[in-house]
Order: sequence, then structure tokens, then C-alpha cells
Amino acid sequence: MAASKCARLGEALTRQLLESVDFVLFDCDGVIWRGDQVIPGAPEVINTLKKNGKRVFFVTNNSTKTRKMYADKLGKLGFNATEEEVFGTAYCSAIYLKNVCKVEGKVYLIGSNAMRQELEKMGIQPLGVGPDPVSGVQIDWANVPLDQEVQAVLVGFDEHFSYMKLNRALQYLCNPDCQFVGTNADSRLPLEGGKSVPGTGCLLRAVECAAQRQAQVVGKPSKFMFDCVASQFGLNPDRCLMIGDRLDTDVMLGSNCGLKTLLTLTGVSTVADAEANQKSDCPHQQRMVPDYYIDSIADILPALEA
Ligand code: PLP
Ligand code: CA
Repeated sequence: MAASKCARLGEALTRQLLESVDFVLFDCDGVIWRGDQVIPGAPEVINTLKKNGKRVFFVTNNSTKTRKMYADKLGKLGFNATEEEVFGTAYCSAIYLKNVCKVEGKVYLIGSNAMRQELEKMGIQPLGVGPDPVSGVQIDWANVPLDQEVQAVLVGFDEHFSYMKLNRALQYLCNPDCQFVGTNADSRLPLEGGKSVPGTGCLLRAVECAAQRQAQVVGKPSKFMFDCVASQFGLNPDRCLMIGDRLDTDVMLGSNCGLKTLLTLTGVSTVADAEANQKSDCPHQQRMVPDYYIDSIADILPALEA
């Protein structure tokens, strides 16, 4: 393979790269779709990769959908995909709580209905989904009712996030035996036209600040996301390619796990960001330099069809 990192991926290099891998891990937002808009050519690339015998996985930090919801969305957008190929943080956080935290009972959940469903499938009972309205004139904030069976607090994307939820999480986390997990730490969610909205990282930081504790984060760049896929499908990191649009999550995950990395320029990070990291002496920034970059995932199609 190429000696230097951050190389533009032309057709010949694409062919070489694809010959060197059996498994391709795709980040979703910014790579195969943006919000509800498919990236043109992405379904053809993924369907052709699969036809050529590659195993493909969808690895997303977005906690607002179950595996089933992602499989439905993928199908509607023209991707040939199954639920088993989807690794989102709603699903992976449920695995984390069960297998790593060994939670058997209840969890206080700041998160979505999708997260509730994935937890329930794993035999964990989530409390707290939906609005938590402030009732009464005078609230005894430090003595709000708590469920003594709660063993962990899980924070994901929650459009009903509130002072009451923040306070309840803090009251649970005052117990040092209560475990603290976050789905992901993405600070902002980019929208079209250069706009953005607060990501789950903002909610997680608020809870960390209140609880004066650090959460265990499940999502990219945590190795756990890769371990979930690897343990179910027997991946060999040497034969894996991670494709993403963010240096701090996708490329960092690839570096942390020894995967080949490809940055697509249809999302958050730019070549200038990658080059700035490459010039730095800091090992942390060096891990955020991709092996290759490409304008759009669609650009690998000619090498696949040749
Ligand atoms: N979290 C939320 C709530 C999102 O809406 C998104 C993107 O839409 C993400 C995280 C980032 O997802 P991905 O890892 O697929 O880029
Ligand atoms: Ca992304």
C-alpha cells in the first residue's frame, strides 16, 4: 500500500485498497446519506461491494434509531442491507450495559424511544423516556423520587432533555455504585447550509459537569463499536477499511483499532483539517490523519465496475 498517509484515492489505488480488505465499515451521516438525503451513488457502491463478496457494516453514532429502523431507512434509500449489519449506538449501548457493566435491572435513560426499545430487547428496563415535566410550585430538587433498583445512567440524544432530567441523573450518580454511560460525544450535528444543532456530547457534558464524574462512552472513536462488529462477524482488523467523514470519530476509531482509513469529503472534516493534524507532533492528532481521502463515496464506483 501507499507509503505516505492522507493520499488522494485514484482509480488504481482504489482497486489496490479494495483487494487488501474483506470488510468495509461505513459511517452513515456524511458518507452514505445526509439527514434523509442519500449521497448520490452510495447505494450502487455498497450493493456492488457486496456483490463482489465484501462484508459491509453500517456504524453510526446516532442513537435515535433501532437497528430495525436503520435497516428500513437503508432499504428505502436503495441500499441492500440487513438489520444484522447495522451497529448504531442505541444497540451498542444496550450491549455495553449488559456485557460490560453487567446491568441486569433498571437504567435511568436520558434518550429516545429507540434506545428504550434496544434496552428492552436486551432485558434491561429503562426509566425516564419522554418529557419529565416540572409539577408543583415548590420542588425539593435534591429529594426527587428515585427508583432504588436503578444500576446505571445512560445518556443519549434526547429532545426532551431538561433541568429535571439533569437533576435526576445527578441524584442517581451521587451513588458511586451507579454506573455512568454515554452513547457518544459528538458536540454538534451539522445541517445543510453550514448550520448545526447541539449533539449528544452537549447533553453528556452537562450531566458530567453536574455529577462531577466522567461517563464511559460507547460510540466512535471508542474501540467498543468495532469490538461489537468484530465479535459477531470475526473481523480481522488488518483486512478492514473504515470509511467516514469525521477525523475525531471515524478516522480515530480506525486508528485505535488498526484499520485502514478513508475520509470522504461529503461531511464534516476537510483535507485541510487532516493536513493540519499530519503536521502536528502530537500523537493524538497523528491518529486523526486518514490513510486516504476521496471527494465522495461515489468516486470508488469506477474501480468497482472495471
Ligand atoms: N447523533 C445524532 C443524534 C445524529 O443525528 C447524527 C447524525 O445525523 C449523529 C449522531 C452522527 O451520526 P454518524 O455517526 O452516522 O455520522
Ligand atoms: Ca458521520
